[in-house]
Amino acid sequence: MTNSAAIVPPTKVTVIGLGNMGRPMAACIARAGFQVTGFDLSADARSAFAGEGGTAAATVDEAIAGTAAVITLLPDGKIVRAALGGIKDRLAKGTVIIDMSSSAPLGTRALREELIAGGLAFIDAPVSGGVKRAIDGTLAIMAGGSASTIDRADKILQSMGKPAFRTGPLGSGHAAKALNNYVSAAGLAAAAEALAIGSEFGIAPNTLVDVLNASTGRNNSTENKLKQFMIPETYASGFALALMAKDIQTANDLAHQIGVKAPLADEITALWTAALQQLGPTSDHTEIGRFLTKGK
Ligand code: NAD
Repeated sequence: MTNSAAIVPPTKVTVIGLGNMGRPMAACIARAGFQVTGFDLSADARSAFAGEGGTAAATVDEAIAGTAAVITLLPDGKIVRAALGGIKDRLAKGTVIIDMSSSAPLGTRALREELIAGGLAFIDAPVSGGVKRAIDGTLAIMAGGSASTIDRADKILQSMGKPAFRTGPLGSGHAAKALNNYVSAAGLAAAAEALAIGSEFGIAPNTLVDVLNASTGRNNSTENKLKQFMIPETYASGFALALMAKDIQTANDLAHQIGVKAPLADEITALWTAALQQLGPTSDHTEIGRFLTKGK
């Protein structure tokens, strides 16, 4: 019989992927009273998580034993699909799978058939707000899928952020997330170019940021990225350029797949793809400023 009850503390919840986001988000779930077991392929990530309120399992089988919900916080949807493919047959019917990674929406819809066939419940609930808001438990969450499954997962979601936006059917959360990051990436690139132009004209970068933040050019990047990571050249935001480039590509792919013209998205995608090729997979997404102005 499929279990349809709401998942409440102290039920066991499994988090797969204990990276920059997964680790603090798992800690939030543990603080809300759930029994959290985390798993990551990286031994360093597992030991960093131990002591943060949950248990780090040495194997994925240990992590999922007796669990009511499995949360994935992995780099992309292909990795999510492979990871879930390896465990889906060992999960109890009615287990709720929540993909909180920034995955591609049409891939999420394709994955649905595999999971539902096995009696599992599946929603997408990606997040926005970065590492700082993951630590604080104040993320924006956008949930796609059946209302009853989102209801069952609601207490878990609430432990990590604000009440989830219900964006529509499965995959719509992932679509909303990719579109958000496209807008965010465009704003960051525009702000970085404005700083370079202003600086050449003699306006100190910090002064221009103050002007933007008091004016209509203000956006999340002008408030939280320019003075913090880009101007001091620390590039330590905790969000990889490779992940941002993936999200923009996802948004642009979606536009093409459903036949919507998006010429600016084509340009922004080409820009971030070139930056990734030049700066490499370990670069931080705020290094786009250096790439735009210095080409390296
Ligand atoms: P990350 O690279 O820091 O962490 C990913 C983790 O997944 C790594 O620790 C890696 O070892 C692990 N992993 C990879 N394959 C695995 C597998 N098969 N089984 C178990 N573990 C595996 O990435 P992140 O920054 O935490 O991002 C996670 C997701 O959240 C991504 O989809 C990203 O786009 C999204 N996201 C990130 C941010 C951010 O600010 N970092 C913000 C919002 C959304």
